[in-house]
Amino acid sequence: MKVTKEEIESIGDAHISNTTETPLRSDAFEKPDDDKIENIQYHFSEIMKELGLDLTDDSLSGTPYRVAKMYVKELFYGLNPLNRPKISTFENKYGYQKMLIEQNINIDSACEHHFLPITGTAHVGYIPKDKVVGLSKINRLVDYYAHRPQVQERLCLQILKDLQQTLGTEDVIVVVNAKHLCVSSRGIKDKSSFTTTIEYGGSFTKTSFRNEFLRIIEKNND
Ligand SMILES: [Zn+2]
Repeated sequence: MKVTKEEIESIGDAHISNTTETPLRSDAFEKPDDDKIENIQYHFSEIMKELGLDLTDDSLSGTPYRVAKMYVKELFYGLNPLNRPKISTFENKYGYQKMLIEQNINIDSACEHHFLPITGTAHVGYIPKDKVVGLSKINRLVDYYAHRPQVQERLCLQILKDLQQTLGTEDVIVVVNAKHLCVSSRGIKDKSSFTTTIEYGGSFTKTSFRNEFLRIIEKNND
């Protein structure tokens, strides 16, 4: 598929995506991380050279390696399914059947169109059936899906789907509020706007459930 430069520019704003899955190559994890770091290091040094930078300078010489390591081990560790946090579930012994909300979960992500940071917070609610999870596991799962090149809509959906599957219930809701550096630092350069996405299933398709959730997160985020 050949895409023109104009189409590339407009895709960067339009956030079209036809699947919840992150588009990955079939050989995505055949190479060890160390090989990826070495290759990215080479390619990033070529980018820097092309920009006219002198890589023999002490301050710049380590940058290609730092960027490569940061991509593979930090910013995009969530691409590799082996890095998904182990989430053990427990029997819902208390019989707690109302809403449980985990608020203000940190979002550190990067937009897949510009590789620039997306930062913000996620709020997750669910109504337990037979299974519950340790609270910090929700934070870990959000962190995992955030650490990929992302579009915010897909991030929201990936968190929702995983939790629905892990918890064995459709009754999950996810809200993400985030600032995109690609909106604030380039293009329109809007410093104050942020983006909200909301995805839900099961009981949360009912307005009353959704409103209860939204009231609680609003009250604590004034
Ligand atoms: Zn972007």
